[in-house]
Amino acid sequence: MELGTGSGECGRLRLGSRVSAPSADLVEQSRLVLTAHPLQRIGAYALAALADRNRPEDLAPEDFNDAVEQMDRHAIQAALLRDSKAATGFWLKSSLSLFPNSPMNHNSNGRRSDDAIRERIRTWHALADPATWPGVGCVLCGRPAVDFFGNRDVVLAESVSYRNTTPRGHAGMALCRPCHVSFYALPYGSQLTGGSSIAVHSWDERFLKRAVTRQVDRSLRLAETGDPSRRQTDVREVVALTSMRRYGERITDGVDLLVYNNFNGKPSLEAHSLEQPLAEWLRMTSRDPELRRGFTALLRAHATKIDPGVVALARNAFRDPARILARSVRYLGRLVTGTAPDRERVAALAALLYSFATEVMLMNEKDLSEIRSTAGRIARLLSEEASGGKLRKFRADLKDSPKLRSWLTSRGVQWAVKPPKGSEGPLVTERAFTLLFAPGADNPAWFHRDLLLVGVLEELSRLGWQAKEGTDEEGGDEELDALDQKFITDEAEDDQ
Ligand SMILES: [Zn+2]
Repeated sequence: MELGTGSGECGRLRLGSRVSAPSADLVEQSRLVLTAHPLQRIGAYALAALADRNRPEDLAPEDFNDAVEQMDRHAIQAALLRDSKAATGFWLKSSLSLFPNSPMNHNSNGRRSDDAIRERIRTWHALADPATWPGVGCVLCGRPAVDFFGNRDVVLAESVSYRNTTPRGHAGMALCRPCHVSFYALPYGSQLTGGSSIAVHSWDERFLKRAVTRQVDRSLRLAETGDPSRRQTDVREVVALTSMRRYGERITDGVDLLVYNNFNGKPSLEAHSLEQPLAEWLRMTSRDPELRRGFTALLRAHATKIDPGVVALARNAFRDPARILARSVRYLGRLVTGTAPDRERVAALAALLYSFATEVMLMNEKDLSEIRSTAGRIARLLSEEASGGKLRKFRADLKDSPKLRSWLTSRGVQWAVKPPKGSEGPLVTERAFTLLFAPGADNPAWFHRDLLLVGVLEELSRLGWQAKEGTDEEGGDEELDALDQKFITDEAEDDQ
């Protein structure tokens, strides 16, 4: 993802074509447009929410000015405290990692009168006299820029090497007023921690609007009260997961998680993304009642002594989605081989994992059904023994594909010679062999083998099979973590 680097190159290219600023240009300087910069887009939607308008483009000049006035009011209220450690100083504290050295938190504020601080903050985002405009285009939207801006106003960092860099002798990033003001509104569309800020972005406009509007409602409480006890404490990935699961419509594009810090000493910007199918699956599984039961099991599957399930799941989703299945399969194994298997939970989690296969891995239904019926026949073989030894061996062989292949071949021969009563066809069909073992980028065989195990465990559970000696694995099925319980309860309440 390309974020602004503050190079101001577009601006430089247009040097020489001075802007005359007729009155139409002045109106243009209060008209929001959406640009290609994710943080500007989040800010623009935050402005729309502050002005109670549907989309950024809907803001009339008076709506735009009203939103700026609200933000100035919050900034002034915070700045007049002059102490970010004050009991109501959270908005001021946050400003240090958003707009360092700005009129909101400038060192000199301690010596300035209240009126002087007010005046400086009001001027900060007011429309500058066109005579002072630099005569170049805004790097984000191409309209006349009103000034060059550095990290006092814009999260500039793309990476450490780009940190706050602007060409030598250049004052910063050329921006028009609406784009500049969008960055002023960015904190309202972000979850603020007092240090790094967390924002969710997508090119799905409806989703972005919903996610930002929701966030603005929460940030406004902080802006108005400055009360740090009202700040949200969700882990960054969970912020994004929650925004997806609370969204009522289909997510039509990928979702980005942006974590930024504009603090003078340590600016940073991190971006993590997940693809549209996974985003939509994470959302959709909060809608269907059966998948929702499976989701609760999915949280249990991810919980560790250190992390609640929702945290580990959200991290896997953004960093390594394949681990979602791996964690779930291990947990299914524990459930099925435990002393008192919860068969409903096994069925619910298996159904959820099949939906992961078709919705996220885009596996076709016919191939999935081939794997499931193969798994059903293998489960029948394994269920003949109550000790669980065969199941243990089968699971070990799954990690070693030549061993698994040879086991399936030899059992397949016995099956063909003496087919179990009521069975039809071979133990493993040719198609199933291809899915489980064929190399090639278009055939994720490892994934199909994991699915095979899901199917075997599901069928053993359905057959009422129980290992005589109980679980053979560390960690049984503990109580749901308090944070996971809260996540699920909040979702249920949200739906009412
Ligand atoms: Zn612009």
